[in-house]
Amino acid sequence: MSVCVLPEQIRADMARLAEAATPHEACGLLVVALDRGRYVIRRLLPSDNVTALNPTAHFEVDPALILSTQRALRSEAGAVMGVWHSHPSGAAIPSETDRARATDHRQLWLISAPRAGVWDTRAYEFLADMGDFHPIMIQP
Ligand SMILES: [Zn+2]
Repeated sequence: MSVCVLPEQIRADMARLAEAATPHEACGLLVVALDRGRYVIRRLLPSDNVTALNPTAHFEVDPALILSTQRALRSEAGAVMGVWHSHPSGAAIPSETDRARATDHRQLWLISAPRAGVWDTRAYEFLADMGDFHPIMIQP
């Protein structure tokens, strides 16, 4: 996949949630449709950040939300689960922690970070064979 379609309303929701959670990281799950070689973001499901570590530098999506989303996706043809979180005091690029936490091959990750006074959101796909993220272009 080389393109991620992010509707303007969802991008705005990410900015609002990231702002509200600052200085903690905000997080959530994404319902992502695979459509003709594109990741199309259908929904953002916000989560509390339930990390037991320092929430200004770590996040963990509520396991109950992961389970309910996996269940819901079984009846949603062609949709997969993506991950969104914010870096309130960093850039919108994956951290070492993110690299260590990601496991699912070709899972879509979106990261929002403040840049020149606005929330900048970027997309990456995780390539498990390389153990690294690959940037994906975002379209509205
Ligand atoms: Zn991160």
